Amino acid sequence: MKKRVVLLAVLMLCLLTISACAGEKEVLKVGTEATFPPFESQDEDGNYIGFDMDVIAFIAEDNGWEYEIVNIAFDTLIDKLEKGDLDIVIAAMTIDDERVQRVDFSNPYYDASQIIIVREEEAREFGLDDIAAMDLKIAVQMGTTGAEEAQGILGDDKIHNLYEFKRANEVFTELLSGRVDLAIIDQPVAQKYIAEMGGMKIHGAPFTEEKFGIAVQKGNKDMVDKINASLEKLVSSGEYQALYEKWFDE
Ligand code: GLN
Repeated sequence: MKKRVVLLAVLMLCLLTISACAGEKEVLKVGTEATFPPFESQDEDGNYIGFDMDVIAFIAEDNGWEYEIVNIAFDTLIDKLEKGDLDIVIAAMTIDDERVQRVDFSNPYYDASQIIIVREEEAREFGLDDIAAMDLKIAVQMGTTGAEEAQGILGDDKIHNLYEFKRANEVFTELLSGRVDLAIIDQPVAQKYIAEMGGMKIHGAPFTEEKFGIAVQKGNKDMVDKINASLEKLVSSGEYQALYEKWFDE
């Protein structure tokens, strides 16, 4: 009799667990900073759009994942991923040595480079090596490879000329306001903002070589493998090329 009761209890518990799992499918949290067109931004209705957003949609569909976009400051993404508040980060994020210590990256999915932009009326000629000596002020997005480049360019003596902003769009409004002399940011993003806002231009050639990766928590090999497999499909199906033309060939 006792045995039967226990068995029944166990059976009921099992059923409860199964129905709970079936009822609510896990929704992955995908972190990004959505003022970074053409990689990630929001349309008038608040929908997340861009190259990265299409790439992650493809990967999720391929794996049967449900997900929601979490739009936060770029310099908080790695922290949140480490803590488990996010499952995936896709944010035009460069694979660099420092980040690789803390999170795992997918295979590279985009080649990128930093570039300088100035106001349209800027007439001074300068190269990277002249910026500190000319006492020029630089705007960057906090926690980015562009910020790191700017630190190197300014050095300790001129680090007070570094102006850091949480969101990429603030970098451009700052440059247009005249409070800084130049901004350093990823090239396609610079081009997109120049096309949309006007009043600015590219200055000189791209000066870094970077590769973007999709980040997951350190040690989550299963997810990296799945993302990489989907990325391969993205390329072999021709969809990568289609997305590239959609977002970069204007
Ligand atoms: N590619 C740059 C980096 O990884 C900037 C990314 C971003 O601001 N979204 O730091």
